[in-house]
Amino acid sequence: MADVCRRLGAAGLLIGTAGNVSVRVGDRVAVTATGAVLAQLTAGQVTVVDLDGKVLAGTLQPTSELDLHLGVYRRYGAGAVVHTHAPMATALSCVLDELPCIHYQLLALGGTVRVAPYATFGTPELAESVLAALDGRSAALLANHGSVTVGPTLDKAVENALLLEWACGVYQHAAALGTPRVLDEQQQLAVIEAAIARNYGTTRSLQEGRS
Ligand SMILES: [Zn+2]
Repeated sequence: MADVCRRLGAAGLLIGTAGNVSVRVGDRVAVTATGAVLAQLTAGQVTVVDLDGKVLAGTLQPTSELDLHLGVYRRYGAGAVVHTHAPMATALSCVLDELPCIHYQLLALGGTVRVAPYATFGTPELAESVLAALDGRSAALLANHGSVTVGPTLDKAVENALLLEWACGVYQHAAALGTPRVLDEQQQLAVIEAAIARNYGTTRSLQEGRS
């Protein structure tokens, strides 16, 4: 967890104590402590809880967004959750109702990214709002707050956070130049078909040919 937090920090996604990360192993969840500076996280700043939030190991109080993390595991069975106040994602979350599918890589997150309506941090209302926005997606923006990404593994959830921040930056640059074109449903379906046919995102040896 410390490694991935440093990776998020190096990519500019972390600001001070903002953000939290968790990973699930079976019915146990390791989660960053509230007040921890994520980019400099140590093992002692990770608390282990069960899926009801009962502390099993550690000495520090878990993140104030624990309800959100546990909700994702209970509802969607994910393996990891990353929440940040990353600058590009947060800027868009103050303006948009959704990040449209302006680039085919957004399909890796499920396409259009919804913006969950605003609620105070750490409340069950915010957790519910974000859980609804994540339906069928591995990313959501939190209105006037930040972003959440999920994945089957911690690495994948972090990768999704980096991808979302990149896409939010692309949208902002594009919107500054004009009205961004959005990929329509047919274009999105064609990408999914091509990705399946070509096993997109994995390296292949020359012997596998170019089909
Ligand atoms: Zn937050």
